[in-house]
Amino acid sequence: MNIEEKYNKINTEIQLLSENKARLVAVSKTKPPEILQEAYEAGIRVFGENKVQEMVEKFEVLPKDIEWHFIGHLQRNKVKYIAPFVSLIHAVDSLKLLQEIDKQALRNNRTIDCLLQIYIAQEHTKFGLAEIEVLELLQSESCQNLKNIRLRGLMGMATNTDNLVQIRQEFRALKNLFEKIKTKFTYLDNLYFSEISMGMSGDYQIALEEGSTLVRVGSKLFGSRI
Ligand SMILES: *Cc1c(COP(=O)(O)O)cnc(C)c1O
Repeated sequence: MNIEEKYNKINTEIQLLSENKARLVAVSKTKPPEILQEAYEAGIRVFGENKVQEMVEKFEVLPKDIEWHFIGHLQRNKVKYIAPFVSLIHAVDSLKLLQEIDKQALRNNRTIDCLLQIYIAQEHTKFGLAEIEVLELLQSESCQNLKNIRLRGLMGMATNTDNLVQIRQEFRALKNLFEKIKTKFTYLDNLYFSEISMGMSGDYQIALEEGSTLVRVGSKLFGSRI
């Protein structure tokens, strides 16, 4: 199958499993710009990258109506390079990072949409906030003062396991936390909760069934990364 056929197949699954509420983020990390151009011509407009320099280089050479999502661990000193154009930052895991994004957004006369990354897996390798930490972050006065960011929802990565029951439970826990925050923090002016970023090539069907609104699919679309 070429990229267009794979894209159509995933889109059909999104329609069936999420009643068309979810969107695809095409995870194009490590792939050269020509491959992204091919995906663009197949109709893809949302790309996910996890390295700052790589995303900037691709932004410069590819069409300007692309939505660039930063999906990796973001270092504070690099926020300035993507602040002029990034559409959504998926993996914010500290107040300090959020403050830096707010500062750089202001410098660029923008508001930058962010997701808070939640630690849902039973693995020690993944980044993210625990439930108690995200609640503390949202309760803090410093968070309320951020005017140039919008908190659009949560992002999580399930455990890398064959146990589908466990994966489903982890996604369900993320969805429950999303609903809890959405009802509890209605007074926050920068909270616009509408997105749950969960699901990758190996588990996006389960994620869609559990309420994902953004599936981040790389290898299923572009082939394996070596
Ligand atoms: C690489 C990556 C993906 C995509 O992984 P695939 O298994 O290739 O679909 C999704 N999310 C994050 C955060 C990633 O780093």
